[in-house]
Amino acid sequence: MSGAAGSDHDVVIVGAGQAGAQAAIALRQLRYQGSVALIGDEHELPYERPPLSKAYLAGEQRFERLLIRPATFWQEKAIDLRPGCRIVAVDPAARRVTAADGTRIGYRRLVWATGGAPRRLDCPGAGLARVHALRSRADADRLAQELPAARRAVVIGGGYIGLEAASVLVGAGKQVTVVEAQQQVLARMSGTMLARFLEAEHRSRGVNLRLGTTVDRIEGRDGAARGVRLTSGEFLAAGLVIVGVGIVPAVAPLLAAGARGGDGVEVDAVCRTSLPDVYAIGDCATHANAFADGARIRLESVQNANDMAGTVARSIVGVAHPYYAVPWFWSNQYDLRLQTVGLAAGHDLAILRGAIDARSFSVIYLRQGRVVALDCVNATKDYVQGRKLVESGAEVRSDLIADTSVPLTQALLSEGVLPIRAA
Ligand SMILES: Cc1cc2nc3c(=O)[nH]c(=O)nc-3n(C[C@H](O)[C@H](O)[C@H](O)COP(=O)(O)OP(=O)(O)OC[C@H]3O[C@@H](n4cnc5c(N)ncnc54)[C@H](O)[C@@H]3O)c2cc1C
Repeated sequence: MSGAAGSDHDVVIVGAGQAGAQAAIALRQLRYQGSVALIGDEHELPYERPPLSKAYLAGEQRFERLLIRPATFWQEKAIDLRPGCRIVAVDPAARRVTAADGTRIGYRRLVWATGGAPRRLDCPGAGLARVHALRSRADADRLAQELPAARRAVVIGGGYIGLEAASVLVGAGKQVTVVEAQQQVLARMSGTMLARFLEAEHRSRGVNLRLGTTVDRIEGRDGAARGVRLTSGEFLAAGLVIVGVGIVPAVAPLLAAGARGGDGVEVDAVCRTSLPDVYAIGDCATHANAFADGARIRLESVQNANDMAGTVARSIVGVAHPYYAVPWFWSNQYDLRLQTVGLAAGHDLAILRGAIDARSFSVIYLRQGRVVALDCVNATKDYVQGRKLVESGAEVRSDLIADTSVPLTQALLSEGVLPIRAA
């Protein structure tokens, strides 16, 4: 197939973010010779999102440093990169996608890599000016532009993005309140030990952390937010509101075309959707994850986006092997480097290794004597060694796990590792 504008391609990738860009890169690395289009609705070259709530928001990193590859790369690799193009429909019978401007693009294989849109608050005032989401470069730039004029900020949502944004805003000298509906921060992804530590850290920096607290509405003046009214009636004045309450996977066109899914599109072990020759990867794909005992989950991480990109590229070139990757994630808040590996859900024991007071420790999560996850704070060695334990599914001596004089890798109960998890 030819690669001219508006024409057909062997592989059409919709979504030019982390997963889509890495899929195109992986195809060329695997010496795929067919034509490849990488279509994205943002007006940017593909870039990495993590710094948007960290160094980029803090003004410490230039946008060019976020680019996944320089502009010349896409031309050199004959990848037809099309920014500013939103795909609104998929026709699996005709094997083509339609862009918002009506352009039709045919495909032999379609890779859906659209991530998600920030979940909006379902309350009055959610659409006011000075209410920000933080998903794209444009979001971060808008926020950064308004930052100097705001003395006080309310962050709604105590997940990673909310907490990272809070730490940047505190660094910029703002008075910050974080409002979280659950009784702990990071409620969806972490145990209480880590949550309590982070809560104390944020409070010690002056963050007004409000747990178990819900928002009634955002109040405004002249169309712009001036503060947040809680359901308790209390009013938190703010010149800036950041909403970090998760994403809604951007899968509507694919579901409308008949793909199986709901909160994301369902994929099999090699990232195929239920539609012929249509794949999905990254934040928008739900998959049976080996490290969640085969439960169908959706991971929102660079690791997952990159590893799924590799899986889909191998599927397309005909050397498919199932997606099997240890989930990992990181976060930076203040001078803390948090590294997480594995999935803690369903653990029956959480062991502290190291000293919380020293601000260098790990929480190690076990299930039936096996390490299923670690949250490591300023403890990269634990992260590296613990990762091997999670990967292997080996039984460990829980009495040795807490002993920092013993390397984690020496806490194995048996010499041999037990590969309990099959993909
Ligand atoms: C602020 C922030 C901080 C983060 N920090 C971390 C971190 O520290 N560590 C970590 O592991 N992960 C982090 N993540 C998560 C990580 O960035 C995502 O998991 C990753 O970007 C997912 O890649 P993706 O390709 O699935 O989605 P995205 O990177 O979001 O890319 C999807 C692209 O598709 C586009 N698109 C959507 N619909 C259409 C359409 N219909 N037509 C055309 N284009 C479309 C979107 O605009 C977007 O450009 C962070 C995310 C954010 C937002």
